[in-house]
Amino acid sequence: MLQAVHVGHKSLADYTHLVGRDIVEECRALAEPLKGLRISHVSATAYGGGVSELLYTLVPLMRDVGLECDWRVIYGQEDFFHATKQMHNALQGAPEDLSESQWATWLEYNSINARDLDGEIDVCFVHDPQPAALHTLVPEKAAHWLWRCHIDLSTPNPATMARLLPFVEGYPHSVFHVQDYVPAGMGGSVHIVPPAIDPLTPKNMALSPEDAAYVCDQFGVDTDRPLLVQVSRFDPWKDPLGVIDAYRAVKERIPEVQLALVGSMASDDPEGWEFFNSTLSHADGDEDIKILNNFNGVGAIEVNAFQSHADVVIQKSTREGFGLTVTEALWKAKPFIGGDAGGIPLQVQNGTTGFLVASVQECAARCIELLADPQLGRDLGRRGKEHARRHFLSPRYLRDYLRIFSTMVDAA
Ligand code: UDP
Repeated sequence: MLQAVHVGHKSLADYTHLVGRDIVEECRALAEPLKGLRISHVSATAYGGGVSELLYTLVPLMRDVGLECDWRVIYGQEDFFHATKQMHNALQGAPEDLSESQWATWLEYNSINARDLDGEIDVCFVHDPQPAALHTLVPEKAAHWLWRCHIDLSTPNPATMARLLPFVEGYPHSVFHVQDYVPAGMGGSVHIVPPAIDPLTPKNMALSPEDAAYVCDQFGVDTDRPLLVQVSRFDPWKDPLGVIDAYRAVKERIPEVQLALVGSMASDDPEGWEFFNSTLSHADGDEDIKILNNFNGVGAIEVNAFQSHADVVIQKSTREGFGLTVTEALWKAKPFIGGDAGGIPLQVQNGTTGFLVASVQECAARCIELLADPQLGRDLGRRGKEHARRHFLSPRYLRDYLRIFSTMVDAA
């Protein structure tokens, strides 16, 4: 049934040298009156994608400041994850809504999980649409409820949104990355909190250029030749096929260029393998395109190494809730090119902290520009890193939630 996820220990104090004393002290002051508050995070998966990435840091930091925090993953089988993937796509704008039976499957698994939700819960913190019906089904099981939406709801399939809305509009608190994602009709208090990355994890800690090159070399990259990298799930919205097309256009001008597409397969994403195979066939056996996933041994350090070693990091998404991979690249002070979509422009000021592009041709042109002018890339990268430091590191994320919990407790 609902599975508890075990997370390690983290100490907020360890972040002081990266984010400054002020925000660390602000977190401690906000947490003081909240000590002992029982927070339960509920999400669809403990592996793959941005939500689990966030929770492996947020849960231990919430504990470190004195909250009693746990994280549970809902129970679901293949039919449920097919339905929720379809829902995810439709909510991000895909034309096909769920079938009647898929909606029924979604609700049925939510009911199973709702029955299983136990223990004393002060704040039930529900992530994304997969478990979103919990509040409607068992409102009495927690004193406070919060729905945390991590996806881009700015242009949803209207039929899908209309079906989901009755289950989310009643949450007393909801949190979105940006105002644009808040669906019309949300009741309760709506909060805007963009995500953040953890600078102390193996994925984001500083790696020497030699170590990064060593790791990339193990995967067959020629570390003396330029490398373009995109790190993301194999998902049409991330546009890996467009990245391959852009790489081909770059290769006409710079024949020595290479491309690495690094993507993990999430346990709640059955479409992933299909799209992985389409990406492989689009690459058409080009030896300078490396297509890697977690089953080839690509874990956090390897993602770090590819991002750190890249000459240009790309995230050419056409829809993107926020894009933790964008923050990860900025934090590594990399020349960055991102699709002008969703949460990417929030992080990338075009021409200042990276480049925004809306087509394959633009992406290729920016790659060529950056490969030809390393100083331009260094300047963008340095400013990108400072932007990430100020806005998108974990202590700020913790602080924003502590503020929300304070308003809940004050109002009670
Ligand atoms: N990621 C990873 N290995 C991979 C591909 C992705 O660890 O092979 C991580 C990536 O570094 C990032 C997260 O998965 O931290 C993806 O989050 P993002 O917000 O970019 O996209 P989402 O998958 O949530 O749409």
